[in-house]
Amino acid sequence: MSEKFDIGIYADFLIPMNSSKVKEKFFIGIKKNRIATVQPYKPQLKTKCKKFIFGKNMLCMPGLVNGHVHLPMTLFRGLEDDVPFHVWLFERILPLEQKIVDKGFIKAGTDLAALESIRFGVTTVNEMYFYLEETAKSIDKSGLRAIISQTFADFPLPEDKDLGRDKFAVVEKALKKYQDHSRIRVGLGPHAPYSCSDDLLVKIRDFAKLHKLPIHIHVSETKKEVDDSLNQYKKTPPQRLYELGILSDKTICAHCVHLNEEDQKIFTKTKAVVVHNPDSNLKLASGMAPISEYREKGISTMFGTDGTASNNDLSVLGAMDIGTKVQKLSQKKESSFGAYEAVRMATVEGARNLGYSDLGTIEEGMLADMILLDLSFPHLQPVNNIFSHLVYSAQGLEVDTTICDGKILMKNKKVLSLNQNQVFSNAQKWQKKIEKQLRTIKGE
Ligand SMILES: [Zn+2]
Repeated sequence: MSEKFDIGIYADFLIPMNSSKVKEKFFIGIKKNRIATVQPYKPQLKTKCKKFIFGKNMLCMPGLVNGHVHLPMTLFRGLEDDVPFHVWLFERILPLEQKIVDKGFIKAGTDLAALESIRFGVTTVNEMYFYLEETAKSIDKSGLRAIISQTFADFPLPEDKDLGRDKFAVVEKALKKYQDHSRIRVGLGPHAPYSCSDDLLVKIRDFAKLHKLPIHIHVSETKKEVDDSLNQYKKTPPQRLYELGILSDKTICAHCVHLNEEDQKIFTKTKAVVVHNPDSNLKLASGMAPISEYREKGISTMFGTDGTASNNDLSVLGAMDIGTKVQKLSQKKESSFGAYEAVRMATVEGARNLGYSDLGTIEEGMLADMILLDLSFPHLQPVNNIFSHLVYSAQGLEVDTTICDGKILMKNKKVLSLNQNQVFSNAQKWQKKIEKQLRTIKGE
């Protein structure tokens, strides 16, 4: 029989995420980078596959989407935990970045983050950091799908020494290089309303419109940010962004912990996206975005991990677990936010919110990004409710196979697209340099 599929998958359980239905004993056929068929399994289908993955006791589902992350910050993991947000950001992280971040740092940190993301079943990341092209090179090699945003801010950036201050030139160069890339897209990342002048934000708005680019920005993360904005501009951060014409369905706003009624109406009206980063908001004591309330008001929402200096891992399953539970507590309503909704946010809704119309469900014709999660663990048995198990029981490392754009990036829990030993030893080398530099910054 002729080979019909590049990859064929048998899965005991499948959640295609085009509805809440769970399918059993299904076959998914992949041709090139797209899903060619989804149908009940028959043994003869196996003979039509160049590669066949047998997912006995496994759940097949769309790859997870991470809506807000700073990948290279993996090298800062565990540093300066448990200090107040403004000390953490302005007295520790930003000075450290100025001293230490260069192309080598970006490669080492992004490689580690890519390895971790693949391991946790994340196939799409919405990234914002420095040295866009270095990040893109690492992401390209890892096989992940990404929107990589160029950071803009009024303050000097660590990359200025190599790339200069004209960030639009950096973006233009990257746009040329990646315009036809199947997995990498370029975006604009104004750091936050408090770190960008009106003038800079207007330039970013016009450039984004001209090139049809997404905008990725931190918004209303802390109460202090909102108070400072009210003092300086007599407007909340979303009101200011709205008046400047920054907000649209192509604007991805991380955090949005402190939105008043008027802010929320702006988000409903403009269709700007809220990225919920519960781990980071809890750890930095920023507060908790009332996501279930936002969703009731028709605001688009998705999950993010944020960088690992404030989380400290890149597990979207982890964010779903804590995000739903804290939502119940903060809204004082057990039913405020269910497991199925959380899985939607991390898959199909996340993909749509990032502008991918052909990603996030397992259906014929969609991009072939999917994972197999191993259910052969005591904490996932018996299989009463897949969605509940995913959100409330899974830890993240049960992911067995990760496929992105029709390529197998991990199989049998071993990442194939990166050399783990090399990535770890490179990260260790940076750990020594970072430790020394941090001591100098703190005057120790
Ligand atoms: Zn962030």
